[in-house]
Amino acid sequence: MVSDWLADAVAIYNDESHNRREEYVAQVHFPARILEEILEWAFKSLPDEILVGLDVSKFKNLPEIEAEFRSENQQTNLFAGQGYRINEAMMVNRGDSFSVHHLPEEWTDEVFGNDRGPRAGRFTHWLHTHPNCPAIPSEADASAAQSTDGVDLILGIEFSPEGPLPWFDGVEGERRVIGEKKSWFSRKDKRKVLGIAPTGHRIHSLELIAFHKAGLGVNVVFVNDDGIAY
Ligand SMILES: [Zn+2]
Repeated sequence: MVSDWLADAVAIYNDESHNRREEYVAQVHFPARILEEILEWAFKSLPDEILVGLDVSKFKNLPEIEAEFRSENQQTNLFAGQGYRINEAMMVNRGDSFSVHHLPEEWTDEVFGNDRGPRAGRFTHWLHTHPNCPAIPSEADASAAQSTDGVDLILGIEFSPEGPLPWFDGVEGERRVIGEKKSWFSRKDKRKVLGIAPTGHRIHSLELIAFHKAGLGVNVVFVNDDGIAY
């Protein structure tokens, strides 16, 4: 069970994922429960970005949900874990937009061994946050994605009080907002509150994109623990 506000928000996001399905070559099914978990870690780690490793279960995406979000340009065998539901998330690092992608050495040594590369090899997908910044990949993000077997995801979180991180939206790129469209155009003092984080921060908007290292967009479908879309 996730918070009501989040369930509503991801349902609106899924609607858009469905309407825009032809813009994507693949889909990834993402449990809303894990999004809520990641949000909590993200707020507790401010002002840092966090890096989260994601693993898939042995359970496949439900075929009826896959069919609903399938595009004409669907590509199979594009990335590791394709067709399987994400079921585990672990926060593995925090830092600024450059250092967040490089795991501390004790992680790579003790947990993954030393043959895993800068982001370690255990996790299928990787997600990192952009606190008060849109979910658009930076150059550092694009290069870190080259060692990802699955897909890379970026979660942009617009919140207040902003602390040292006022919302920065002077970035060009394809964006996907969770819950409320075009919210970044609203006046700052009139911003809608989507939900309240466990830390007391007001969440004004969330954005999530997923992409394959070849630069292809991957559609995200939020599901519950049974794999059914919101
Ligand atoms: Zn980034």
